[in-house]
Amino acid sequence: MKDENFLKANNARSLWHPMTAPADSLKNAPTIVTGGQGVRITDIDGHEVVDGVGGLWNVNLGYSCQPVKAAIAAQLDRLPYYSIFRGTSNDCVIELAEELRAFFEPDGLTRAFFTSGGSDSVETALRLARQYHKIRGEGGRVKYLSLKKGYHGTHTGGASVNGNANFRTAYEPLLPGCHHIPAPYTYRNPFNETDPARLAQLCLAALEDEIAFQGAGTIAAFIMEPILGAGGVIPPHESFMPRVEAICRKHGILLIADEVITAFGRTGAWTGSRLWGVKPDFACTAKAITNGYFPFGAVMIAEPVAEVFEGDASGKAAIGHGYTYSGHPVGAAAALACLAETKRLNVVENAAARGTQLFRGVQELMARHDIIGDVRGGHGLMTAIELVADRATKAAPDKAIPARVQEAAYRAGAMVRVSGPNIILSPPLVLTAADVEVILSALDAGFRAL
Ligand code: PMP
Repeated sequence: MKDENFLKANNARSLWHPMTAPADSLKNAPTIVTGGQGVRITDIDGHEVVDGVGGLWNVNLGYSCQPVKAAIAAQLDRLPYYSIFRGTSNDCVIELAEELRAFFEPDGLTRAFFTSGGSDSVETALRLARQYHKIRGEGGRVKYLSLKKGYHGTHTGGASVNGNANFRTAYEPLLPGCHHIPAPYTYRNPFNETDPARLAQLCLAALEDEIAFQGAGTIAAFIMEPILGAGGVIPPHESFMPRVEAICRKHGILLIADEVITAFGRTGAWTGSRLWGVKPDFACTAKAITNGYFPFGAVMIAEPVAEVFEGDASGKAAIGHGYTYSGHPVGAAAALACLAETKRLNVVENAAARGTQLFRGVQELMARHDIIGDVRGGHGLMTAIELVADRATKAAPDKAIPARVQEAAYRAGAMVRVSGPNIILSPPLVLTAADVEVILSALDAGFRAL
């Protein structure tokens, strides 16, 4: 490794950081992480903390998952790459597809299309949704509906269905025909509705209204995260997603579950769709599929959708889409090992128990710190703390405040993440009760430092 001073001085000289203004990273050196063990990371100054973020919601099994590391090393040695474009395949990816099929069978998802990450998975589902309708002779179904506050990655299709202006404005004009409905975000919504069940009804009415306005026959798909993640951990009321599913079915609109964060146990259920008892037409996955150790993703496809593609003899079902790294054997080997570990450790159980502990803990922090306006979570290890300048008016805090909390929490022993006015917590699913206490006391120190 290069010397510490070299790394700090040159951090942003020759690289642009994602989701960061270049001028900002030139001025403010980031935390340079140099090691990871268990659920802890170590920075270049030797400071060790519990990773309350789990990388980027993806390192579910922590940083020392030996079976995954060994599988990657062995596969690199045996076959480091081969494509699965027309005419070739590799053994690992076939085995993985069978394993994923078994894992997602309860969600009705029985085929896999492989990608290199979450944005690719979203793009794939959006495109296959349009193609599905074309095969069936409904080529007019080209539009997409989604939720405000939703996050669906940064490719142009994903950014177009994204519900946060921060990821859109600079890149407009985006894809035409993408329309957004209000998110079931109880703390702030245009209806001033504070009851989650009633708010769900209002958002569903807005969805029905938008479908009527656009014309059902023009809409290809509705995409949503079972629990909105990057938008600030917004779990919809339990009635919401099942009703969305019913509305989509009624109007022939495909339902895409963006499970890039929620699949593989994070919500305390094996998938977000299963948490709500929904069977989507597509589920987008990535992140924890390889525990973050290799860039990889999969779109899972429902049986009836698969049958339409597989039953077509007209040529319209040829998939003119795919990535050089679709089905990468090293990624597939990593995913196979991850899936085996995820099941062996039964991570959902720990995610649910530690998630409850974490959520109760942040509720207690709210009782002690007026800067906290809202806490959200309660389904596994996805929690957000929304900061406000004033609880009565819900006015946003000074922009510098969340980062100050984060810095102080980091010094006190936990990495947490800032997203707008929110502090986001999404630790590895294998953390212990004591690790959760470290995160909570570091956060407490973070708030006290204000
Ligand atoms: N969808 C969701 C729900 C996500 O949370 C993310 C990433 N945070 C993406 C898509 C995009 O994934 P990636 O960054 O791997 O492209």
